[in-house]
Amino acid sequence: MAKRLQSYESDDIVVTFDPNICIHSGDCVRGLPAVFDVRLKRWVRPENAPAERVADQVRRCPSGALQFRMKSAD
Ligand code: SF4
Repeated sequence: MAKRLQSYESDDIVVTFDPNICIHSGDCVRGLPAVFDVRLKRWVRPENAPAERVADQVRRCPSGALQFRMKSAD
C-alpha cells in the first residue's frame, strides 16, 4: 500500500516528501542537517534555514521525493 505524502512548512516554504519514491541517498540529511533529521518524528524542519537554502537542497534530491513550493508565490 502506498504511504501518504508528508508536508512540512515554515512561514516561507512548504516542503513535501513522498516516501514511496525516496531512494535513501542521504543527500538531504548530509547537505542540510539542521532541516533534515531522520532521528526526529517531524523530520523536516524548514524553519531552521532560509527558505532559499531549503529550496536549493530540495532541488538536489535525486529521486524527486522532496518537492517545495514558496508561499510567497501563492
Ligand atoms: S535526498 Fe531525496 S532521495 Fe535522498 S534521502 Fe533525501 S528525500 Fe530521499
